[in-house]
Amino acid sequence: MKILITNDDGIRSPVLTALADALHREHEVLVAAPATDQSGMSQAFTHGLEKRLAFKADSASPYPKYEVLGTPCDCVKFAVAHLFKATEIDLVLSGINLGENAGMSAVYSGTVAAAREGAMWGIPSIAVSVWKNAPDRLGHAVDWLLRLLRKPALLPQRSRDGRTVGLWNVNFPPCAPGEIAGTSVTSMSTVMFRDSYEAIRTEHGLTEFRLLGYKPEADFREGTDDWALAHGRISITPLQVGQSDGAEAARVAAFQADWGSL
Ligand code: MN
Repeated sequence: MKILITNDDGIRSPVLTALADALHREHEVLVAAPATDQSGMSQAFTHGLEKRLAFKADSASPYPKYEVLGTPCDCVKFAVAHLFKATEIDLVLSGINLGENAGMSAVYSGTVAAAREGAMWGIPSIAVSVWKNAPDRLGHAVDWLLRLLRKPALLPQRSRDGRTVGLWNVNFPPCAPGEIAGTSVTSMSTVMFRDSYEAIRTEHGLTEFRLLGYKPEADFREGTDDWALAHGRISITPLQVGQSDGAEAARVAAFQADWGSL
């Protein structure tokens, strides 16, 4: 398979290299990743006549590897529309992110947004995140992905009419690999963070604020990604690019006469 790898932790993330090196043994690997940590950038991208995108090739890499001075979305866009324009990419793999991207985290995540960008280009895409930075967990996630890629029927697909494309958000739970309770195909949790700001006095006498947030575990619903992770399970959440709310559309469409009179 021809696999485009990107992330939001930046090209110097040791996880990115470990993943790309491992996949390179069995697949055609292409890498385009941000020059700096772009966590929490969601799908921000660089555009406008005055804004430019710079990039640098790693000539020592055994596979094409580009550092892009931009966001994760920029990396996928630039890779598909320019760097690897002549290549038919089979899969976009975004990650492996250090930190969970389940539920509402997926909205803020640059890792998930890069996969969403891939899906928007019609390429099946997977975002992968692990809870914490522990070497055994990362090795396990890389091996898991290698085994998954050997089973093409399991992977996210393009529909026959080309209208829809598979987009997955995969998260590994906080436990050690040997303690993982199983794998669940889940829905996206909508439990919001309990956010608060901690005031910090700087050495210059200024007050600055740091965001502290957590998700209240008691609110997690069974069947969601947040719940699966809290129960030691690997979570696979298929996502859709379209965000339409059919029920709300039906409710407001009933006011047809009113819309015409505004
Ligand atoms: Mn990140």
